[in-house]
Amino acid sequence: MANPQIVGNNMTGAYCPMCRNNGVSNVVATRDNVDCFCLMGHRMSHAQFWSMKPDMIKTEVRFVPGTNDVKVEIWVNNEVLMRAKDALGEQFHPTIASIIRCCMAGQPVIIDGQQAAELRKLGIRNGQEMVATAKLNADLTSQNEDLVAKVNEWEARFASALQSA
Ligand SMILES: [Zn+2]
Repeated sequence: MANPQIVGNNMTGAYCPMCRNNGVSNVVATRDNVDCFCLMGHRMSHAQFWSMKPDMIKTEVRFVPGTNDVKVEIWVNNEVLMRAKDALGEQFHPTIASIIRCCMAGQPVIIDGQQAAELRKLGIRNGQEMVATAKLNADLTSQNEDLVAKVNEWEARFASALQSA
């Protein structure tokens, strides 16, 4: 959930730049149709407010489980878990949930970090692009086989033409 303090259409989404200039960086600025103002008594026009390049309030995106989601316990190496939580942040729960979902959608293809890095170098970023590349490769392989067969056929014709000459 976003911080309720900064949600609402009377909020500027920024900290008061006058307070900042006075050395207080965390006073949230609000606005009405005419002015922007803060609890410290600063008031200025919208134009003046934005011309002071106020610092924007960073909204923290928090993971919110779906209505049918359940919390589960899994056994996992604690160091791995810590590193995963650290690396994934708010994406931790949706990432693990999507991996579980993947496992249920037939036989998943697991790719480790190094293989993923190599795929990314080749410009392949997701499963759909992997499938497209694999299909293209199969097409090219069969085209190649056809061409090899044609070359062989022509070689045989030349050979027999040379023999009969
Ligand atoms: Zn202020």
